[in-house]
Order: sequence, then structure tokens, then C-alpha cells
Amino acid sequence: MAVSQQLTRLVRQRARGRCEYCCLPEAYSSIGFEIDHIVAEQHGGRSIPGNLAWACFADNHHKGPNLAGIDPRTGRRAWLFHPRRHKWERHFRWKGAVLVGRTPIGRATIAVLQINAPHRIAQRAALIAEGVFHRD
Ligand SMILES: [Zn+2]
Repeated sequence: MAVSQQLTRLVRQRARGRCEYCCLPEAYSSIGFEIDHIVAEQHGGRSIPGNLAWACFADNHHKGPNLAGIDPRTGRRAWLFHPRRHKWERHFRWKGAVLVGRTPIGRATIAVLQINAPHRIAQRAALIAEGVFHRD
């Protein structure tokens, strides 16, 4: 089901124009951003503010309907990051332009969403150098 314009605006403003997974600023992205159903509609996730996030195309595309992934450190299953229920700082930290998972949730999310794909690290590094990618 399509998300209304009004709801899209709310989700976008709440995220302050940044991807809620990888922090990419929308203004400096060439690929566009999308509404992410955190729990996919396929799994009964609804189009309500508590189940929606603002995500870059790459993250939304790689996430698809996944709810969980594998923590590459332990090989065990872990839930994906839930931007409405989890605190970003608890699960992720920056090491330069590379996103590091602090928890199984963080590491599984980075793996499934391919947040550290080489071209994405290169893009972040360029934006950091320009002073327009904020890692706070
Ligand atoms: Zn992203």
C-alpha cells in the first residue's frame, strides 16, 4: 500500500533528511531516498509512523523484506536495526568513513544492507572531506 504524501513528509522531516541506517544526507545523494517499512508489509508491517523510516535507496533495496541477518562475528542470527525502537549510537559507531557495528544488531544490519560496500565508503569519504557528512 502506498504511503500518503503527508506521512512521507512526517517521516522525512523526523529523519532530518538523513538515512536512518547509514546517515547519508539526502541532499548529497544522487540515488534518491525512500520510505522503509521497518517490518515489511509482507510480514504484516503497517504504514504507521512507528513502522516507517527514511532510508537511502541502497539500504532500502538491500534490506528488502528482511527482519534479521547473520552477525558476521558469531555466525548467529540477529535482528536488524529498528530505527524506531533502537538507539543508533548503541549499535553503531564510525571509524572514519567505515561504519562499525557495536552489537550483533549493528553488525548484522551493516552486512545485510551492505553499508560498507567499497563504493559507499568512497562516497562517504568524499562527503566527509567536503564537510557535509556529519558523524555525530
Ligand atoms: Zn542509507
